[in-house]
Amino acid sequence: MIRVKPGVRFTTVAPAGFLILTALKAASRKLGKDLTITSGTDGLHSGPLDPHHLGEAFDIRSHDFPEALRPVVLKAIMEELDPARFYGFLEAPGQANEHFHLQRRKGTMFSVEDFLRDEPVSRGTILESSVATS
Ligand SMILES: [Zn+2]
Repeated sequence: MIRVKPGVRFTTVAPAGFLILTALKAASRKLGKDLTITSGTDGLHSGPLDPHHLGEAFDIRSHDFPEALRPVVLKAIMEELDPARFYGFLEAPGQANEHFHLQRRKGTMFSVEDFLRDEPVSRGTILESSVATS
């Protein structure tokens, strides 16, 4: 399931933000692990136009997972998102404030219609690709 760190705010959530939240839920199910959101629209980030403040970016705690598992967690999340329009990475790796950051790609648009049309299944999953190769 998805947990939310106390103090995290979701003052606004854009369609891209809803898709990221959907991806987090799917990834949590796939992994069989809880994911904790550590930042939404709260925090300073990089100014008023930062995607966090637009409801198009979320941070996820990485320290809940052993280092070797962190890339797997990121992959599980990103598989649910169109790589042309979303990206995610491990921010500040090895540091105290290390976390996964997920956001809509700069220079892209993502409307409610895009959200409704999105079908992550069509992009394949870990499960499907392992079935296909076995
Ligand atoms: Zn972030």
